[in-house]
Amino acid sequence: MTPTGPSPTELAAAVKAFAGAIGAQNVFATPEDQIAYSDHYSPDESRHQPGAAVAPGTVEQVQAIVRIANEHKIPLWPISRGKNFGYGGAAPVLKGSVVLDLSRMKRIEVDADNGTVLLEPGVGFFDLYDHLQNNRIPLWLSVPGNSWGSVAGNALERGVGYTTYGDHSARICGLEVVLPNGEIVRTGMGAMNGSKTWQLYRHGYGPSWDQMFCQSNFGIVTKLGLWLMPEPEAVLGVDYEFDAPGDIGWVIDTIMPLRREGIIQQSPSMGNWLRSAAVMTTRNQWTNDKGPLGEDVITAIRKKFNIGWWSVQIRFYGPLEVAQASLNVLQKAFNGKKVLLAKPAKWTKGDPPEGSPFSGVPVTFPLANANWHGGRGGHIGYSPVLPPRGDLALDQFRRTYALYQKYGMDYHASFAMNERSLTNVNQVLFDRDNPDMMKRVDQFFHALVADARARGYGEYRTHIEYMDLVASTYDFNKQALLKLNQTVKDALDPNGIIAPGKSGIWPAASRGDQA
Ligand code: ADP
Repeated sequence: MTPTGPSPTELAAAVKAFAGAIGAQNVFATPEDQIAYSDHYSPDESRHQPGAAVAPGTVEQVQAIVRIANEHKIPLWPISRGKNFGYGGAAPVLKGSVVLDLSRMKRIEVDADNGTVLLEPGVGFFDLYDHLQNNRIPLWLSVPGNSWGSVAGNALERGVGYTTYGDHSARICGLEVVLPNGEIVRTGMGAMNGSKTWQLYRHGYGPSWDQMFCQSNFGIVTKLGLWLMPEPEAVLGVDYEFDAPGDIGWVIDTIMPLRREGIIQQSPSMGNWLRSAAVMTTRNQWTNDKGPLGEDVITAIRKKFNIGWWSVQIRFYGPLEVAQASLNVLQKAFNGKKVLLAKPAKWTKGDPPEGSPFSGVPVTFPLANANWHGGRGGHIGYSPVLPPRGDLALDQFRRTYALYQKYGMDYHASFAMNERSLTNVNQVLFDRDNPDMMKRVDQFFHALVADARARGYGEYRTHIEYMDLVASTYDFNKQALLKLNQTVKDALDPNGIIAPGKSGIWPAASRGDQA
């Protein structure tokens, strides 16, 4: 049995109390509001439709909302800007939860000398970029491919970017959190009154809590400290295109040693042709055949847009001579290897901004790739982590490709090369107006998760619909990790008001239902 959210009467009473505390204009509880805070890209958005949303403007108002939620036993689903598309957008796991929309909280404090920022959850990538530009602060952001979300929400969900600071949660330094009992805590060095090093030293004293609030439901983050990259003198690199599906193996084996040694300090992401093509064209422009795409169609699309079967972009940052020396090492590694196209990239201080995520410039564009199949497009992410070996990546690609074909879907994936792992990010694209396809998506997703699990690979992040499924794959010692999470959850949040079901962590009262 699925746990149920609050009844209409319980919700109405809480909504009234929320309006009394933060003003009726900041409480959104009409049917239109429920739709606005749903996930419009998911297979069935009604399964996760919230009951209402509340948008506090201050940490005191967050505390007031938490107090009311405890009194009325109303689940809150905190979001920063709610653009977690592919993984649920603004929507909660538990239908009927109240979305706690923190997007009005937008304070920014930059320490320009030390390259850090302390920001509130509503600060978007564009807000922070404008702040740095307007104040002529020579610090760069790391932004995700589509930068409409918030800096804090993205880091808390372990989102990634393209520069050397691209592992966003790894750059968190100090949080302010409202706990489920309404108390405010500051983590790390911020635990000291008048601390001078809150954003400078990550570990603090004793157990370290920053990461406990990532992908978790233990508290509401109201301030987040983050390290920013000093503006480099140069950005050099190469955009590579490769011709054959099988090239993924040797390319990863060429790049990974440089990644491990620290010559390459960002995580290059090797994506297939559809990752590039789906933002420029739609399927019906090439074929009316609903079956798997033939190599002839793929070749025609690649030819039109001059793209490889795979592509990867690599960048080096720093003083020109250092970046140049690293670039030389990379080019030597690719010497004599079968590259379809190698396009150099160069930016040096004084040039106009490159205007791309590689130089930390936020970009936003309509999610055109969701339109690939036509109809009302949607997508969900499937992102297993595997060891950084070419043969395993090739095997992963071949197995997954076969599953895509079996379930009548089009392969859309990339392999991000982390320091010691690969993240195989798949964006499963579908047409929500195609009932036949929609029937297959759920089975396909289960098949993908089972396939990864069988090899000992787990997802790094997942859609709200699949949080229990993915949690169940972390099964060492009868799910000891989930039990630890549940023990912490029960201690911090006995009423189970913060994000029930997030990452598979349910409050004690709904655990029986969920099982
Ligand atoms: P973005 O602002 O980048 O669009 P979201 O607001 O969608 O990101 O946040 C992604 C997820 O991270 C949310 O679904 C929620 O689980 C978690 N989250 C976001 N902001 C907070 C916060 N301030 N406190 C606690 N959890 C948060």
